[in-house]
Amino acid sequence: MTLHKMLLLLGLLSCIPPGVAADGLPAAEWAAREMRYIASQFPGRLAGAEREFAAAEYLHIQLSSMGYQTHTQAFDTEYNYVFANNVRQRRLLQSRNVIATKPGVSGQVIVIGAHFDTATTLHEVHEGVFGGEQLQGLDDNASGVGVMLALARELANAPVQHTLKFVAFGAKELGMKGSQAYLDSLPPAERSRTLLMVNLDSLLTGDALYFNAGKRTVAANPAAGAARDRALALAAALGIDARSNPGLHPDYPAGTGCCSDQESFDKAGIPVLAVEATNWSLGKGDGYMQTALPGVTGGSSWHRPDIDNLARLPQLLPGRLEQRARDSLRILLPFLLEASGARPAP
Ligand SMILES: [Zn+2]
Repeated sequence: MTLHKMLLLLGLLSCIPPGVAADGLPAAEWAAREMRYIASQFPGRLAGAEREFAAAEYLHIQLSSMGYQTHTQAFDTEYNYVFANNVRQRRLLQSRNVIATKPGVSGQVIVIGAHFDTATTLHEVHEGVFGGEQLQGLDDNASGVGVMLALARELANAPVQHTLKFVAFGAKELGMKGSQAYLDSLPPAERSRTLLMVNLDSLLTGDALYFNAGKRTVAANPAAGAARDRALALAAALGIDARSNPGLHPDYPAGTGCCSDQESFDKAGIPVLAVEATNWSLGKGDGYMQTALPGVTGGSSWHRPDIDNLARLPQLLPGRLEQRARDSLRILLPFLLEASGARPAP
């Protein structure tokens, strides 16, 4: 083999996504590798940007290679901003969800979702440089997508009673557009057969894992908090520090979360389990301050290219990717096996 051919081959080998090549890895290490891969290979994956499409392609390949029936759901949406001088800017664009299905036998459905887009900035809209900024979104939300993929990988052969749908949502950062588009696309019968939505968003920077229910569904029927209570009980039995919103802020009642794709489902009357890492006891008690760690100035890494990246976050929080992936999977795997009717949790 000539040197040229060898270099070419090495180049090709390095293009193999780690998840595909590393199938022997334990689930948590595998999830952490997915987080790193998505953050590093698809930075600036904001709604409508080329990198959002490329990330969707990657997720499609990963989920279908696990044996899931996988399809991409494109939807039209828009940026709609009002600038300081009251100038309105509207920009139409297309985003997409990636949906992987494992059919059950009961006719009922459990959705496990995580958004894969990153936030955008007014500067990007103004300059028309979508994807130009290098926000890696490691915490928000390569972390949730990595854990979702690992759950899909672990559950691919589980004998589920209820259908599992893994949905990677686009355009969350424009106001939960992907989850709304998903719900809008469902026939009313499937909506009413959706038992639960589990949302994974930002699992790294925050001081602890939180499990919350939906504000509206719980207000209508406290039984909608059952998934939250079950996840917390599993965490307690495993000795994992998992919490629920203590309700220090009047707008966010105890035990309920906010501000991610589960809200679309909560509004549609579907019980939700919102999984995130933050610290609801800090700041205004609204969940927006993730940590008191001095290196995270202001207490939050959300939407910050300077912190939410592979150079900075693992330096501030050594071992955090693997640890959070492990904790999340140790709770959520038995939880989902039980909730889907595949196997009772220990
Ligand atoms: Zn997020």
